[in-house]
Parts: sequence; C-alpha cells; structure tokens
Amino acid sequence: MGKTLFEKICDKEIPADIVYEDDQVVAFRDIDPKAPTHVLVIPRKPIPRINEAQPEDQKLLGHLLLKAADVARSLGLGEDGFRLVLNNGRDAGETVPHLHCHILGGRKMDWPPG
Ligand code: 5GP
Repeated sequence: MGKTLFEKICDKEIPADIVYEDDQVVAFRDIDPKAPTHVLVIPRKPIPRINEAQPEDQKLLGHLLLKAADVARSLGLGEDGFRLVLNNGRDAGETVPHLHCHILGGRKMDWPPG
C-alpha cells in the first residue's frame, strides 16, 4: 500500500503549513479553510478513520485530542471557543482516508451542522 496524502505531509514529501508536531501527531493548516482558523491534527500512524481505530490506539487518540486543544489555545481560540470535528465515512463527508481531527475557529459555528 502506498502512503496516504497525509503520511506524505508528515514525512515532508508534500509541503504544508505545520503549526505543531511531535513523535505521535502533526498539526497543519487546511489547504481549503472553512473558518478563519482551520487546522488538521493527525496521528503519524495511518489509522484510516475513527471507525477503524483499535483498543491499542487509546493512548494515541487521547494524546491527539489533548494536543488539538493545546494547538487551538496556541492559535488564540481558547477564549471564544472552537469546534473539533472527525468526519467518518461517506455520509459525514470524509475525503482523506487518514484519521484527522479538524480544529475550526475564529467565527460563530452553526448547530446542528449541515
Ligand atoms: P475530510 O473532508 O476528509 O474530513 O477533510 C479532509 C481535509 O483535508 C479537507 O478539509 C481538505 O481541505 C484538506 N486537504 C485535502 N488535501 C490537502 C492537502 O494537500 N493539504 C492540506 N493542508 N489540506 C488538505
């Protein structure tokens, strides 16, 4: 199996505006932002989507969520708020089969989402 698009971003084979990285996760700005701040936080491990995560991924997924909140705060979203989104599968609008947590902020969000 070839690398996913997001694995290539992790490995710096495709350029991206990386705002945070460590040995487990990478956060970079979305190429087509849907809010004034739109960042994707991904595990380096290419889990396709949350529906395919395994019990052994528990620590990694906890780390990813805590880092998403850290990144949101570091980008100035801590006070007014932000939304974290995981799109799983076709009906949810998933387009890249490598788990990613969207951080969206900088504007008021509607609820329920469309
Ligand atoms: P999904 O629709 O799967 O939840 O989200 C995939 C996201 O990846 C989309 O918001 C899309 O704009 C973003 N994306 C797709 N290709 C690239 C790329 O090459 N670079 C970056 N930075 N974002 C991308």
